[in-house]
Amino acid sequence: MNKQHFPQAPRINEDEGHRSSLRLIVQGRVQGVGFRPFVYRLAKELDLAGHVQNTPRGVEIEVHGQNADLERFQASLREKGPSLARITRIHAEGLAFDGRLQEFAIIRSEPGAEHSVLISPDIALCQACRREISDPSDRRFAYPFTNCTDCGPRLTITGNIPYDRRQTSMDCFPMCAACRFEYEDPLDRRFHAQPNACPDCGPHLWYAEANGHTLAHGPGALNSAARALLRGDILAVKGLGGFHLACAADDEAAISRLRQVKKRPHKPLAVMVPDLEAARGISRLRCEDEAWLQGTIQPIVLVAKRSGALPEILAPDTPLLGLMLPYTPLHVLLLDRYRQLAAGQRPPVLVMTSGNRAAEPLCLGNREALASLSGLADGFVLHNRDILVRCDDSVLRPRKHPGPPLVFRRARGLTPNPVFIARAGPPALGLGPEAKATLCFLKGSEAYVSQHIGDLTNVEAFAFYRELLAHFERLLRIRPHIVAADLHPDYMSTRLAAEYTDRPVVFVQHHLAHILAVLAENRSEEPALGIALDGTGLGEDGTLWGGELLLVDPGQGTSSRLAHLAPVGLPGGSKAIEEPWRMALSYLHAIGVDCFGEAEPAFASTPERSRLLVAQMLAGNCNCPSTTSCGRLFDAVSSLLGLCDVASYEGQAAVRLEAIQEMRESRPYPCPVEASRDPAVLDSLTLFEAAFRDSRQGVAPGTISRRFHLGLARGLAELALAFSRRTGLDRVALSGGVLQNETLAQELSLRLEQLGLTPLVHLELPPNDACISLGQALYARLQAS
Ligand code: ZN
Ligand code: ZN
Ligand code: FE
Repeated sequence: MNKQHFPQAPRINEDEGHRSSLRLIVQGRVQGVGFRPFVYRLAKELDLAGHVQNTPRGVEIEVHGQNADLERFQASLREKGPSLARITRIHAEGLAFDGRLQEFAIIRSEPGAEHSVLISPDIALCQACRREISDPSDRRFAYPFTNCTDCGPRLTITGNIPYDRRQTSMDCFPMCAACRFEYEDPLDRRFHAQPNACPDCGPHLWYAEANGHTLAHGPGALNSAARALLRGDILAVKGLGGFHLACAADDEAAISRLRQVKKRPHKPLAVMVPDLEAARGISRLRCEDEAWLQGTIQPIVLVAKRSGALPEILAPDTPLLGLMLPYTPLHVLLLDRYRQLAAGQRPPVLVMTSGNRAAEPLCLGNREALASLSGLADGFVLHNRDILVRCDDSVLRPRKHPGPPLVFRRARGLTPNPVFIARAGPPALGLGPEAKATLCFLKGSEAYVSQHIGDLTNVEAFAFYRELLAHFERLLRIRPHIVAADLHPDYMSTRLAAEYTDRPVVFVQHHLAHILAVLAENRSEEPALGIALDGTGLGEDGTLWGGELLLVDPGQGTSSRLAHLAPVGLPGGSKAIEEPWRMALSYLHAIGVDCFGEAEPAFASTPERSRLLVAQMLAGNCNCPSTTSCGRLFDAVSSLLGLCDVASYEGQAAVRLEAIQEMRESRPYPCPVEASRDPAVLDSLTLFEAAFRDSRQGVAPGTISRRFHLGLARGLAELALAFSRRTGLDRVALSGGVLQNETLAQELSLRLEQLGLTPLVHLELPPNDACISLGQALYARLQAS
């Protein structure tokens, strides 16, 4: 339990010197996590009378009893709460002693217009429930919707607050007598477990063909599904926050087909394994990996592949594999059945990738899935517990040292946990970026960043974005006073800002938002240096930024651009983002190499006609907007080395470049700082030129890649040092999508520390654009107050 912001114990109104009464209001994540039952048991143990109730102000407790017991009660409240509870504040006041009450009771939730309780994220299946579903004598044996107060669905089934069964999609399942008894027994593990259910009264599972025809119900459905998977079928599986597309992870033909129908030729696919032992069979796990694979969140964890264990085509570009353990009873039962039928002949591993067509958000309802996925899936595992809120699997990579993981996608198990920021202020909304969209609401000193939404240029994703906007306002009961959007006028999120005609709207430079977000997560309120290493974001001068050193004052929301990478052309604008070979040509042009003097073998896959066209564009400076993007520099080097001419997913060129590094190499390329210019320039052209010369001389790509990574990290750190001396600031906030490159992120932090500077990294949010809604909202709040 979190133990911050606790007030001093209040003065208690005493009666005869021994007995007193006390009212406590507990705030934080205290609903739907077994908090009231915990209070009830505690009061009973200490023989206190009174009651506990969910109210719009939080959980309210009144207790009457011996002074010593009341003190013990307060201490235990702080120290022994349920594992999922997160108390942010306890307000306590003494009352006149009331000796009439003899009993302690849990009383009905009070509906209210304002609230200060948080909905919990969805929680992975707990050990006690897991034992029940594997025990043939238990009434929940093999029941896929088993849950208790310690585990189960929360956010994804909740339509409104307060969190009560009638506000969830379990409303249409009246509890049977046995479930009701558990629900009402304060000493039961399922006391007030809102989604409580059993085979007699709860949701059920069935298996359907692609045409919607039902083949089997209940346990038979899992049997049919497992058989179909072993046969090589692709299944759509309805889970917690949406659908997965699943197939056997050792079946190359099935995986290829899945890649074809999803139009996803290379992007890594995640897998699910029944347990840690199976995970160890296909990957080399570090202890931090194992810790994240288990527990209450159970995200997709990026782990080191064991080579040869599974087909290369699962994740052809990277030595890492996205791995998760079954986090719902449904997944546990499906994996168990699959393993039984595979009978040691096949590895018990399933591909589990989000069930959607390329770029669309996760499918939600049965009919929707059947309609949208029928061309993709050969069969459907369906159930009748509605998903009210979509939520993808979270994806992260634990870091070597104790510390926060590198988060790639923040969703299931993590949202809607707030980021606790340094201070309170007026309610504000950040509308986020365009790709990797999220929203952020500031309420008091809490920042609610939505789950990953997707790319807003996709119609379905934009609809989901609007839904979440309304849903979060409803759940949080707030109306933002001010709204912030990106400076880029063409982002779908920026265009939406025009709808807020009744309140102020402000526009925030993309990389300032990045740096404000990482500072906020670190509760850092003093001016700091900020390095944003990113794709492209619109700069204040109208060019495309993305490799910037900023001076940011988070107290004022102001910034100045101290330095940037050498600007180069972006031939064809957004086309150059999809086609890294264009960036290679652009950099060659910038260092004065004639692209046609000798044919560069690296561009063999690119038609000469296209190259000629791009060379003309560069020479004539036509349709070549200027950019300082660091992401595009990685693209250029990757394509120069022949690794990726056309990217099939975002970041592919950089992923391949990172993967081929020769780790024994330790010599960095030069990347000098031109400090006399204003803004200063980090000479990324010299860096590129060194890579080019080596590649001409036949140096191995792995060596070039390593020297490039080390050179860039060193150059950036030297740049920060130069400006640390000039400004007297020694903290350097790091953000931007390029920092998903583990090598650069590690080397840069390490280098900064060696130079006596303090790197600040993201603690809970991803470094990519998913974080900027937080920076925007903070900026907006500064303008409002
Ligand atoms: Zn449980
Ligand atoms: Zn029941
Ligand atoms: Fe960005």
